[in-house]
Amino acid sequence: MSTISRRNFLKFAGAGTAGAGLLGTPLARAASQARVVIVGGGVGGATTAKYIKLYAPEIDVTIVEPKREYQRPYGSSEVITGQVTMDDITISYDALKNRHGVKFVHDAVTEIDYDNKRVVTAGGKQVGYDRLVMSPGISFDFDAIEGLTEELAEKKLPHAWDAGDQLLELKAQLAAVPENGTVIVGPPPGPYRCPPGPYERAGLIAQWLLDRGDSSPRVIILDPKNGFTTDYSMLHAWNELYRFNIPEPARSKYTEEELAQLQTHDNPGPIEWIMGEMGGQILKVDAENMTVEAEAGVFEADMINIIPPLKAAQIAIDQDLTDGSGWCPVDQKTFESTRHPNVHVIGDSCIAGAMPKSGYAANSQAKVLAIQLKALLAGNEPVEPMFQNTCYALAGNTDSGMFVADVFRLKDGRIERVDEQRYLPFEATKVQKKLAALYQHNWMTAFTEDCFS
Ligand code: FAD
Repeated sequence: MSTISRRNFLKFAGAGTAGAGLLGTPLARAASQARVVIVGGGVGGATTAKYIKLYAPEIDVTIVEPKREYQRPYGSSEVITGQVTMDDITISYDALKNRHGVKFVHDAVTEIDYDNKRVVTAGGKQVGYDRLVMSPGISFDFDAIEGLTEELAEKKLPHAWDAGDQLLELKAQLAAVPENGTVIVGPPPGPYRCPPGPYERAGLIAQWLLDRGDSSPRVIILDPKNGFTTDYSMLHAWNELYRFNIPEPARSKYTEEELAQLQTHDNPGPIEWIMGEMGGQILKVDAENMTVEAEAGVFEADMINIIPPLKAAQIAIDQDLTDGSGWCPVDQKTFESTRHPNVHVIGDSCIAGAMPKSGYAANSQAKVLAIQLKALLAGNEPVEPMFQNTCYALAGNTDSGMFVADVFRLKDGRIERVDEQRYLPFEATKVQKKLAALYQHNWMTAFTEDCFS
């Protein structure tokens, strides 16, 4: 690269890749108009598109996304328990299209032609790029649990972990649970989307059954893990709200002083958490007889909500962007795939060091990526990034909130968490917990605007 500058080389390389018949052919574009194509119009994809347009309006940005409207998974458990509707979680792409000038191709990507730098869609369209951003979310490993299939998840055993009609199915199933019936919630092993989410859902369901007037409903959490993000706050809140007895192995999460303030209830409430070391690992599900076999034994249930192990979205797997872990390895500064150049993977699909798989994290990565892409496309060096994440959660009672708040920086090439206070303190007052619940609801609105408006 001695006779031409890196900047001109990139323009030249970009211009030379697209063939006739492609959307945005080089001849039709101004020389400076680099093309970024984004696969997936969810949190990561939408935020990247919007922020590239804010930082560098001259860049041509196209989102390829099959759906005409986005249904947000974040905050979607409240559809099951009726606090919000499907309309409330459905988001229009109009602002991205009309206010920010983002182009859309409403189709699913089926192939990435790395050599010619273009994506191919199910409908046969070809869209050329200079830089490709992948934020296609997640897929599910149904084979990991005997008796579970993708077909069963559509109707009888919905996971409802990616929004969609499965939420309505689960809502109907909850309404049909007989008085004082049993619900099983099966959180996945890590890493997975929304670390506090399965436990928040269990709490919401318990609260819903109690509000209905059930005197002794059961919500059994069969968990392959021994801990989860916010467990310190969640178990404490359940102990206060639901006569929940903290399992013996989990008591080590608290100091002696804190343990002295926790209650032991003779007549425990609805929620039981059977953690990994107590035999919570699910081995088999029998949809016909509505039983779940775990290491601890066989459980009968009126409703079963198992969230299977997660992996990167199918398109990322099919197009060779994942490694043996099932997720996409990336350079931690630029999110460029370590497997294919000029392709950046963000959001739930990527391996982002210590960052969790959350909407907040995907949004934070997207904003950094927008800055990095502007630099890279102009032939400049990427900046030293910093990231944030806050996951809010409800204990079940919508007046009792909690959060985990983190800042992340690069350390020896890996995204690491800055060690600071992360949770509400043990001695948080009722008002502070109510405020945390309020923050969650306000965040949901402000965050959605930040990504999509
Ligand atoms: P997504 O938002 O899932 O977007 C992926 C998009 O890619 C989809 O629109 C999909 O249609 C599209 N796509 C897939 N394949 C293709 C293809 N082949 N071609 C084109 N497009 C494709 N996060 C928080 O921060 N806070 C919360 O409180 C929170 N609560 C949650 C509660 C629940 C119950 C759940 C399930 C999740 C929650 N999350 C929360 C997590 C959050 O929703 C996800 O982490 C976030 O949506 C990830 O963004 P993403 O861009 O990676 O994927």
